[in-house]
Order: sequence, then structure tokens, then C-alpha cells
Amino acid sequence: MTTLIQPAKRERSDALVFFGATGDLAYKKIFPALHAMAKRGKLDFPVVGVARSGHGLTELVERARASCTEYGGLDPSAFAQLVRQMRYVDGDYNDPVTFQHLKKELGDCKRPTHYLAIPPSMFGPVIEQLGASGAAENARVVVEKPFGRDLQSARELDRIIHTVFPEHSVFRIDHYLGKEAVQNILYFRFANAFLEPIMNRQYVENVQITMAEKFGVTGRGKFYEETGVIRDVIQNHLLQVVSYLAMEAPSSMIPEAIRDEQAKVLRTVRPLSPDHMVRGQFRGYRDEPGVAKDSYMGTYAALRLYVDSWRWEGVPFYVRAGKCLATTTTEVMVELKNPPQVVFNEAAPSMGNYLRFRLSPQVHIALGARAKRPGEGMTGRPVELSIVDEGKPVPGEGVRLGDYERLLGDAMAGDATLFARTDIVEAAWAIVDPILHGPSALYEYEPGTWGPKEADELTRAVGGWNTPA
Ligand code: NDP
Repeated sequence: MTTLIQPAKRERSDALVFFGATGDLAYKKIFPALHAMAKRGKLDFPVVGVARSGHGLTELVERARASCTEYGGLDPSAFAQLVRQMRYVDGDYNDPVTFQHLKKELGDCKRPTHYLAIPPSMFGPVIEQLGASGAAENARVVVEKPFGRDLQSARELDRIIHTVFPEHSVFRIDHYLGKEAVQNILYFRFANAFLEPIMNRQYVENVQITMAEKFGVTGRGKFYEETGVIRDVIQNHLLQVVSYLAMEAPSSMIPEAIRDEQAKVLRTVRPLSPDHMVRGQFRGYRDEPGVAKDSYMGTYAALRLYVDSWRWEGVPFYVRAGKCLATTTTEVMVELKNPPQVVFNEAAPSMGNYLRFRLSPQVHIALGARAKRPGEGMTGRPVELSIVDEGKPVPGEGVRLGDYERLLGDAMAGDATLFARTDIVEAAWAIVDPILHGPSALYEYEPGTWGPKEADELTRAVGGWNTPA
């Protein structure tokens, strides 16, 4: 008789411990996410905030109220449910007594999820204290980005984490993977028969990913001085997007099948060299509070990547990201090769066939094509077939979840699909590591532009950058 093998059962966590409860991320993202969970009737577990404000639960509740009011609006009954579940432990993360209080607060909870929304320098000390106090038993840990500062420090952080938590209990957040639009890249690629046959070097001319932010460092100059654009958004968010665009079809939807393919493709991306990069800094960055007057940190980077795989050999992937650019948007453009110009006597069109994913602020999926221009001649014009998601609820469709709501819910449920596994993080660091440490030029650019003009050289061979409308 054949035995049916069942997948390992993932038990739901029974408490969320939330380090960094008085921080900026908590205020902007986490309280609103917990509030949204309560609104959907999903907040049925205690939420224990841990910080060292010197205040108590009353002050934390008031902070949560202000946060939910400012980010999304307050629903009185959902907020009342959040308050019913909230607990607070005050103390320093270096002090073992803080963790004794935490254990006491957790009471009968058997499987907590510890979410570290704290400065990266505190990841190691908190993990060690969780281990020493016994609060790590049967627990999961969610680690915020950035996961290390380079390949070596990421490995060292992993070493510390793995002394306390096995890899299957570690959830490295990249909130980009919680976005519907990013998940749709994966879905759209592998749920449609017409796309896969052309997503390769035979048909694709180049791939471009632009992540533009109109705003600057918004008061977080000190943080940005230690991070810069490559560590802030390229090593994590944009390389995750590259992996979804370039990976082979996963064998199924189980988390390891998807993450195996992400890791495989990232390992085939050639490590970057300064010749394939242009860095920029917006004029005025050095006057920001917390920024050195002679700062050499990049607020803009444009890169040319090559994926050395059978599928993508020779196809350039261009990635650029920056602050104080002309607009705020993130867009992926997969440009296809032009068809042979032997049937219609037209000059090669500048805008031919493409696939465009707008990831923010709106969500678009568009196919660029050419259609006949009305009239006697057989000449054409560019047209775009597009789907636009307005982000509004559609009757009969599922509820849209915010990125943090989705990811915290998944971590509580033990579903790691949308979290970065250790080999993915290491492969991504290995790509950018050579350009983090070596010397490289830095060009100043005017705020409100598309960055330094030197970046245009990178894409000259393919007709320039795609500039999102
Ligand atoms: P903040 O500096 O605003 O908050 C840090 C939090 O950690 C505070 O609650 C602080 O408590 C607590 N804390 C720090 N050190 C100690 C200590 N020794 N003992 C007890 N509590 C301590 O950081 P952010 O919220 O901005 O960032 C948190 C994490 O999230 C970081 O890893 C960051 O990279 C990541 N992140 C942040 C984003 C953002 O927009 N802010 C976006 C994406 C990721 P207290 O205030 O009481 O001192």
C-alpha cells in the first residue's frame, strides 16, 4: 500500500512579542498592521511590546492610537480589540531582567513569535538573551532589514541566530515580498501560457527596474549615512524583484520550492564591478541632519547586471534606485527584441514590444504592442494593453492586505514563502559585495531629476533608460 506523505504541520504562534514597540517602524507600519488584523477578526493572540521608554502600557496604547489614526484611520471596535491584546514590558535589551519580565508576561503561551523591529546592532544581543532566558523555546524570530551590512556580517549574524533558532524558525523580513504587486510578477509569469516561451535571451532585449523616490532622507540622515542606497533597497528589495523575474518555474507553491529557485537564480548573477555601476548623491544631502559634511554615501545607484544562466545569457538587467528623483514610482520594464522589418516597410520602432509591471504607486501590468494606424498605408503606432489595479475593494474578490499585515500574519502561521532564506540573502550580498568595499566614483545630481547623467552611459547600447511616465 502506498503511504501518502503529509507536509510538516506548521503550528500557529500563540503570541507576538514585538521588540522596538516605541520606534519609528512600529508607529508607521506595525500598529496599523495589527489594527488591520483586528479589523478582519484575526488578532486573537496577545501582543507584547518591549522597549525602554520608561513608560507603561497606557502610554503605548496612546502611541498606538495616534499611529492608527494617522496611518489608515481608527476603527473603534478594531482598536478596542488591539488594546485588549496589548501588553508592555519596559527594560533594556542588554539586561537579562527584561527577558525574565517578558517570560512572565508570556504566561501560558507556548509558541511565541519574536519580531525584532530594532536597530540592527541589537539583533545579536536580543537573540542571545532570548536563548538564555528560555523565551526562544518553540518560538519563531522575525528579523527586520538590513540583514547585515555585507556578506561577512550577514554570515556572522546568521551564526548567532542559528545558535538559538533553527533556520526553519527564522523569518527575515523584506516587506517588498509582502506587496501584492511583487507577488503578481511571480503569478503573472507562471500562470499564463503566452509569457514563459518569450521570457528568455531569444526574445528579451533587456530588463530595467527603476525605483524612484521624489523625497529625500526625511529626517533619517544618520540611518542613511550608515546604509546608502545599495544596502537600503538594492541588495534586498530590487534583487528580490530580479529573482522573481529571472527564476525558473518552481515545482509547486510550497515555500521551499519558490525559495530554492530564487536562491538558484541569484547565485547565477555575476558579482558587480564598479565598471557596471554609476553612483550619485543629491545636491543638499550633506546638509541633512546626521549626515557628514564630506559624506561619500550614494543616494542613487544605477547598475548593469548579468544573469549567467542558459535562459538569460547576454541579456542586461539594469537596476536603478535613488532619492530626490523626478517622481516616486517603481517600475519593471521587460523590453522585447524588435520583429524583423521585412513585411512592413517601417523604420525599426523606438517603442516596440514590452511587458511592464508598475509596482507603485499604482499597480499596472501592461503589454506594449504595435497596431495599424488607420488609413491607406500599412504603418503602425505603439499601443498598450493594460490592467490597472486601483487598489479599491472589488466585490467577490479577496481582502487586500497591507505588506506588514500579510507578512506578520504569515510569520504567525509559520509560512516562510515571502521571507528571505539564508542562502538568498547571502547570494544577494555576494552580488553587491565587490561594489560596497572597493573605491568608486560618486556624481552629484540635482534634486528633482533622474540622477547623474553619467548613468545614461550604462544603457546607451539599448537606447537609454525607460523613464516611467
Ligand atoms: P527606531 O530607532 O525608531 O526604534 C528603535 C526601537 O528599539 C525603539 O523602540 C527603542 O526603544 C528600541 N531600543 C533600541 N535599543 C534598545 C535597548 N538597548 N533596549 C531597549 N529598547 C531599545 O528604529 P526604527 O523603528 O526606525 O527601525 C527598527 C528596525 O526596522 C531597523 O532594523 C530598521 O532598519 C528597520 N526598518 C525601519 C524602517 C522605517 O521606516 N523606520 C523601514 C524598514 C525597516 P526606545 O525608543 O524606548 O529607546
